[in-house]
Amino acid sequence: MKIHEYQAKEVFAEAGIRVPKGEMVTTPNRAEELAREYNAPVMVKAQVHVGGRGKAGGVKYAETPEAARVLATQILGMDIKGLEVKRILVTVAEDIITESYLGIILDRVSKRPVIMVSPAGGVDIEEVAAKTPEKIFKLAVDPQLGLRSYQARNLAYKLYRDPLQVRKATDIILKLYDVFWKVDASLVEINPLITNTSGDVIAIDGKINIDDNALYRQKNIEQMRDIDSEEPSEVEAREGDLSFVKLDGNIGCIVNGAGLAMATMDLVKRYGGEPANFLDIGGSSNPQKVVTAMRIILSDPKVESILINIFGGITRCDDVANGIVEAFKQLDLKVPVVVRLTGTNEEKARQILKKVKLPYGDTLDDVVKKAIELAETTS
Ligand code: GDP
Ligand code: MG
Repeated sequence: MKIHEYQAKEVFAEAGIRVPKGEMVTTPNRAEELAREYNAPVMVKAQVHVGGRGKAGGVKYAETPEAARVLATQILGMDIKGLEVKRILVTVAEDIITESYLGIILDRVSKRPVIMVSPAGGVDIEEVAAKTPEKIFKLAVDPQLGLRSYQARNLAYKLYRDPLQVRKATDIILKLYDVFWKVDASLVEINPLITNTSGDVIAIDGKINIDDNALYRQKNIEQMRDIDSEEPSEVEAREGDLSFVKLDGNIGCIVNGAGLAMATMDLVKRYGGEPANFLDIGGSSNPQKVVTAMRIILSDPKVESILINIFGGITRCDDVANGIVEAFKQLDLKVPVVVRLTGTNEEKARQILKKVKLPYGDTLDDVVKKAIELAETTS
């Protein structure tokens, strides 16, 4: 789960990481009022879950309260990479001397949190990573030992020469590492971490992604969720207890088990198709889940065929078949559906599916090819 910059900064501030004074607002009126209250130039910043807001025109400097109002009017309602801006952050603008990068990710290769710092921070960090990777310094932290202050200090020396700034950055790195653990993050990022004319070290942007599997024990974070900024189909899937990720292709996939879902998508790609989604209906086979899954997939206008691939273990094929029949009753199915049900109660499932006369395949290769072929004839 992602949270907004203003929320990430609240988490940072609570951990003792310095951030500029600011507040999230939803109207130009309030933006102007705040700028007047701060009695200083402000930044007006779009709050959407995408990177590169600055380059897209979603981060602007306002010299006066009147300018803050004008910019807030422009930015609210703006479309940034397909997301409508409904919230903005108004913060006191800083005089920037340097922009650095500081981030921590959970690295699957080393199976450790990896801290990354770069003195070349700011809006072009992706380019730095691609063209001059030697400007990015990394440290994989042993989770048993935790981050040692000498390690944080070594990283801070990659950013600054001035001992006072090194001390401040060391403190921020240690605190950010604590935040990473405390909120069960998969990523925390400050880009840029700036120095200003008074020599302070301040986080002027913030990003935190939380591991969804930890949300049950992160109630404070969970209530920061902004449903408006999430893919509607992913919201419905979550509420229906399905693991779903929307993709760009045209073959809708309904599968049980994450491993089988991945293998199914791989095969779709291998035979020249493009999956429209990853969808795992999970272990139990409540027919309602199948109906929800079908509805979610059908809400994507790009979908031209649906492939249902179920391996019945704990999941019973007849339950899934009942779900499919129910979906045919409830939904207006305009795209072809191809089914492979194998394992527990497979025979029963075949009987049930006679009611809807679906192309039925025995091998995974067969159904995948069939789904691709049917998608081509629909388009
Ligand atoms: P992003 O584009 O989504 O990463 O948004 P950021 O918050 O990182 O802002 C983008 C860029 O705008 C920064 O790298 C800075 O160069 C600039 N910027 C942001 N906040 C301030 C500020 O308070 N003062 C100044 N002078 N520039 C800022
Ligand atoms: Mg940034």
